[in-house]
Amino acid sequence: MKYPKLRELKEAVTSLVTPAYTSNFPAGGHVPFKDFRGKPVVDDANCVGCETCANVCPPLAITFTDDREKKIRTIRRDYGKCIFCGQCQEHCITGKGVKLSDTIFDMAAFDRSAVVEYQEKELLVCENCGAIITTVEHLSYMHRKLGPKAFASILNLNILNRKLKLAEGQDLSAEIDETLQRKDMFNVICPNCLRQVTVKYLIRGA
Ligand code: SF4
Ligand code: SF4
Repeated sequence: MKYPKLRELKEAVTSLVTPAYTSNFPAGGHVPFKDFRGKPVVDDANCVGCETCANVCPPLAITFTDDREKKIRTIRRDYGKCIFCGQCQEHCITGKGVKLSDTIFDMAAFDRSAVVEYQEKELLVCENCGAIITTVEHLSYMHRKLGPKAFASILNLNILNRKLKLAEGQDLSAEIDETLQRKDMFNVICPNCLRQVTVKYLIRGA
């Protein structure tokens, strides 16, 4: 019993004469150490609204809501739930959509809604069945990644035509009838509807 007491005494004296390991934040400033994981900061210009970060966020701090009518995806990031694990940054498909700050860490607030952020992205909705395809920015990002290979998909071609504004002011899309027809391939339709048209008209030749 004697030696442990001496050891504790030695530790007490040592800690009295050595500087404190902790900082005096918030009275004084605090400089986080290298690779400190602080607040995830979103760069909206490089975020395509793809949902990947929501799928990997362990505490579900990132959620998405899709409004088919308005064609808007709302991304909600609740930093009151965030555990600063860095999964969103690590798995971001653009590599630049979200990055954990190493300087912003003081997010304490009396109102929880003060630490919630929102983004909105335009959605691509199938003009036949109403299925949500993805966001317009996500598809454009895939175009850039795929390069010329993107033109293998007629969906990509339709979106590219809009982007290039080759027929600006003209409505080239034809009303989709009750049953899908070959001409409907030139509307924005989801991969499932596109497959139905392909099988019916291009493979079977109906
Ligand atoms: S750091 Fe982790 S917990 Fe926080 S938003 Fe990103 S994935 Fe979610
Ligand atoms: S993974 Fe990246 S690009 Fe996709 S929604 Fe999250 S931040 Fe945006």
